[in-house]
Amino acid sequence: MSTSTLETGDAWLQPAEEFQSLFEDAPVAYHEIDTQGVVRRVNRTECELLGFSRDEMLGRPIWRYLVSDDQNASQERIRSKMKRAGPIPPSERVFVRRDGITVTLEVHENHILDSAGSVIGIRTTMLDITARKRAERAEEGLRRIENKHRRFFEEDVAANYIAAPDGQILECNPAFLLLFGFNSVDEALATTIASLYPHPDAWRVFLKTLQENRLLRYSNVELRRRNGGAIQVIQNVVGAFNERGELVEIRGHVIDDTERKLSEEALARKTAELARSNKELELFAYVASHDLQEPLRMVSSYTQLLARRYRGRLGSDADEFIEFAVDGAKRMQTLINDLLAYARVGTRGGEFKVTSAAAAVEMAVKNLRAAVEDSRASVHCGTLPTLFADPLQFGQLFQNLIGNAIKYRQMAPPEIRITCDELAGDWRFLVQDNGIGIDPKYADRIFQIFQRLHNQKEYSGTGIGLAICKKIVERHGGRIWVESQPEQGSSFFFTVPKNGGTHA
Ligand code: ADP
Repeated sequence: MSTSTLETGDAWLQPAEEFQSLFEDAPVAYHEIDTQGVVRRVNRTECELLGFSRDEMLGRPIWRYLVSDDQNASQERIRSKMKRAGPIPPSERVFVRRDGITVTLEVHENHILDSAGSVIGIRTTMLDITARKRAERAEEGLRRIENKHRRFFEEDVAANYIAAPDGQILECNPAFLLLFGFNSVDEALATTIASLYPHPDAWRVFLKTLQENRLLRYSNVELRRRNGGAIQVIQNVVGAFNERGELVEIRGHVIDDTERKLSEEALARKTAELARSNKELELFAYVASHDLQEPLRMVSSYTQLLARRYRGRLGSDADEFIEFAVDGAKRMQTLINDLLAYARVGTRGGEFKVTSAAAAVEMAVKNLRAAVEDSRASVHCGTLPTLFADPLQFGQLFQNLIGNAIKYRQMAPPEIRITCDELAGDWRFLVQDNGIGIDPKYADRIFQIFQRLHNQKEYSGTGIGLAICKKIVERHGGRIWVESQPEQGSSFFFTVPKNGGTHA
């Protein structure tokens, strides 16, 4: 920046007339200030830029018009510039116009010197670069976004590609090379996405779907690796279209799904196998227990006949032996009946119907009337819902739980509370008693078939009741568990999905 020297004594002369309009309407704002910072000359462009009239500006300090964030610093800067001649480097500064709008100006300043070479002022040209700055910032933002996207594209664990409409690969990331077995980007770029499809028809279907839907979301498809090996993938593909609706670019995001697919298939096979063997076992238990009933009935009735007819006539040993036989036959009968009931849950389950849980409880209590009366038990029932279930099995479920609550009581008469609340899309039932309780370490075991915590002398039973409960609840798509402490009573919870259980 050169410093200019005015030849005449009066440094603030008007420019020659022919330059007047050039000066006024120049594309840059222009002003001159004296050493006090007072505006001595200003062109129309600057007046319009800042929103003040020339009359308002002339004769007043420039910082009243060129308003920046820090006015004090502005004044100080001007003062220090006045102190010594020499080049003033251009700067970019932000000012607030009269209307409150912020502008960025590129400021060029020169000293005005008198004939003796002393600084008598500063002349300033200012270029409004607000729009350019905004564009630069926008461009910078775009560049940052673009970089971010590129990093996503490149560093993604998913295989990403961009391809032409004919499938020609234009760009791909390292995960893509790895997934499809390419040795280099060049090798991939020499190939087409079409060649990754097992059959040209599959590729055509893909293109047609993309044309119609513009994008494919979570599409499961089998593709080929470079060496011909099949891979299962999930892909999200977006088509880019021109204004005529023609596909111009394909952008794909591919995730290897082979492992999951294989294990899913293996799991499905195992589940089917398990279901089949479960069914077989159930059928076996059913047939076996059903067919055992008949001969057992014979044994039982004849031993009872023996007991009746020959008691006291064959000696005391014989009486005792016959007692044992009668007792054993009875126990075996109960066992087989229970086993049959267990097998029937799966094999002879009824239709699911709209079922009142309260009615199921009522039926259970009715069936248990003798036990309820003998033990002077009280059963309190909260508000219970109506739900989609097998009504008979639901009754059986409550009967087993209430029956146990009575059987495993303490000295005091049993108090049984049945309530239900909602829990994450399920009905959660609770059958609570004040009985002997259960050590939490047996909380899982008691639901297994034949698992008992007591011998026959303490409490009679077969250890099937809770296994039946579990089977019924699971057939309804729920689960059952117990929360208890010894001598603290037990809380048996079970859930049933509100939207209707599974119907096996
Ligand atoms: P069973 O009553 O024939 O033994 P269950 O399958 O009904 O068979 O119960 C298994 C075991 O769980 C019982 O032997 C008992 O120890 C325990 N149990 C079940 N219900 C209760 C209860 N309400 N309070 C305490 N213990 C219980």
